[in-house]
Amino acid sequence: MEMLLFIIGIVIIYFIYQKGQFTFFTKIIFRGNDKEKIIALTFDDGPQPPYTENILKVLNKNKILATFFLLGENIKKHPESVKKIISGNHEIGNHSYSHKKMLFKSPDFIQKEIQKTDEILKTYKIETKIFRPPFGVGLLILPFIVKLFEKNIIIWSINSKDYLGLSAEKISERILRKIQPGSIILMHDGSGVDSGNRSNTVETLKIIIPQLKKMGYKFSTISNLPLK
Ligand SMILES: [Zn+2]
Repeated sequence: MEMLLFIIGIVIIYFIYQKGQFTFFTKIIFRGNDKEKIIALTFDDGPQPPYTENILKVLNKNKILATFFLLGENIKKHPESVKKIISGNHEIGNHSYSHKKMLFKSPDFIQKEIQKTDEILKTYKIETKIFRPPFGVGLLILPFIVKLFEKNIIIWSINSKDYLGLSAEKISERILRKIQPGSIILMHDGSGVDSGNRSNTVETLKIIIPQLKKMGYKFSTISNLPLK
């Protein structure tokens, strides 16, 4: 039985990654409309000072709105950073409570991970309609549970891989090479996976934003990104 579930899971994940967009129970979004030059910058695993703040400075200076997928655990640690995201009018998404992989976890575990973060966000008067699973993965059960929370699942179309310790130039090159109308770009202000120095992410923004503007791209939060 477990083996069967595993195989079904792999097939679904394969299908999701091949098709780019796939609807099962709740919407799973990988990118926006490819006809308009609008893209979304997204930042995961925060908030984490000073990187969240430094990213916000670059975004606000450029009058760009972005989306932050926050971890409940980190919201508790850094309430001041959350307030800064909110006061900059950026969007906040739920990225679980403790960043544990949601593959092969019980429905109860998944539900609690989402609910705990929702409850903390409520104390900031935030009710988010978007969820990004840790590591962007989940099996059949995940879209079903996320549907109960009336949220969409947001993945990405460009992984900046800013968690690999690459230089800002390398990360920028990668993003600029892959950019397309409707791209959703994954970056990190926090450290769900590694030790978490995000200086290169901040520097990357300083390189790519002027370039992308020159190429005619506009920036949007996830909820305002035009879909197909
Ligand atoms: Zn993450």
